[in-house]
Amino acid sequence: MADLERFRADTRQWLEQHAPPEMRTTPKSQDEICWGGRKADYPAPVMRWLAVMAERGWTAPTWPREYGGGGLSKAEAKVLAEEMAKLNLRPPLTGFGLSMIGPLLLQEGSEELRREHLPAIVQGKIRWCQGYSEPGSGSDLASLQTKAVRDGDVYVLNGQKIWTSYADKADWMFILVRTDFQAPKHNGITFLLMDMTSPGVSVKPIKLISGYSPFCETFLSDVRVPVANVVGQVNGGWTMAKALLGHERTMIADAFKERDDRRKLIDLARKHLGEAQGRIADPIARDRITQLEMDQACLDLTLARSRDGMKAGHKPGPETSIFKYYGTELNMRRRELMVSICGPQGLGWEGPGFDPEELKMTRDWLRSRGNSIEGGTSEIQLNIIAKRVLGLPD
Ligand SMILES: Cc1cc2nc3c(=O)[nH]c(=O)nc-3n(C[C@H](O)[C@H](O)[C@H](O)COP(=O)(O)OP(=O)(O)OC[C@H]3O[C@@H](n4cnc5c(N)ncnc54)[C@H](O)[C@@H]3O)c2cc1C
Repeated sequence: MADLERFRADTRQWLEQHAPPEMRTTPKSQDEICWGGRKADYPAPVMRWLAVMAERGWTAPTWPREYGGGGLSKAEAKVLAEEMAKLNLRPPLTGFGLSMIGPLLLQEGSEELRREHLPAIVQGKIRWCQGYSEPGSGSDLASLQTKAVRDGDVYVLNGQKIWTSYADKADWMFILVRTDFQAPKHNGITFLLMDMTSPGVSVKPIKLISGYSPFCETFLSDVRVPVANVVGQVNGGWTMAKALLGHERTMIADAFKERDDRRKLIDLARKHLGEAQGRIADPIARDRITQLEMDQACLDLTLARSRDGMKAGHKPGPETSIFKYYGTELNMRRRELMVSICGPQGLGWEGPGFDPEELKMTRDWLRSRGNSIEGGTSEIQLNIIAKRVLGLPD
């Protein structure tokens, strides 16, 4: 206990000394959230914050030191998170490396793959994207058709992926390919790691109505990927795909939550609906906010329990579908509530005198509509919960 208190004091002192003051605020836009990578071009304080935290391995506090991580115990990592929260510090790094492929490599990767990729993820040097969905294979992912044919010690890849988030900004992709066309569909898939600079990879951003292009189409034409980049077994990729989805679904469950969401909701309600006797004037809004925060607290506690289990060596199971489903439902409810509390001010417009906070709120609300699709749709999560958690018949 005394050791932990010493660790807390040292951590706090170190954070106060090394965190740039600009990192003690909520990011003003998506462009300030650090995903790292070779193409990273963030404001200087963001890059500085990444560098100092990565040097200690504190971008991935609990990963082993031998792979560049912080090597912290569960209790120490909790202290670090608490001290960062007290100083209102942002996470120094986010992305699919830390939340998806890194945990999978720690769980299932060969020693060579771990040593090659994990330190680069911790340092934010390499940004990853996810090559799962194809034009004909979304919910029915196991029907994917991207072909990988063995030629000596490489696989030659041909096919197309779609909805690849940030493929244009990524350096590497974890990708599902079909290596056996005769086997039943779940048994012919292999999980590979592919360098996006390989000849034959081309990426086309998909432009959305907002003007942004968060997704891409990814085309593969005779792309050569070393056999050594297989994660798990050849033709055993479905097991890897499911294990990674477990990490992804847990991550999505609270990925959209912001540190001061609760405060923001209450402040908005006071501002737009008024106050009476020190409380939000509208009892219906009060009720909806209270219910939302109670549901959020239940989810947060359940997620914390599951994360403790994972740190203790339990693999994520089908219960991650509950987290994904409920976490995204809560986020959609929260964004909807914020916009409705603001009334006409919740319409978010650009032009003279516009309020960037209101515009962001509207954009967050629109973005939340995708929550019930990404990482597997809500209907698919409900099917998994019915079948694999509750054991209901088909
Ligand atoms: C914001 C966002 C980011 C994404 N990022 C990535 C990424 O980085 N990489 C990647 O590979 N993919 C990504 N995707 C794609 C995502 O995984 C797919 O969109 C999703 O799996 C659904 O597939 P689909 O779009 O082909 O829809 P479909 O599978 O065609 O589904 C259409 C509708 O039918 C319903 N449906 C389908 N089958 C069933 C069933 N058996 N029972 C009940 N209902 C069913 C679905 O719920 C849905 O409502 C992203 C999607 C979004 C929205």
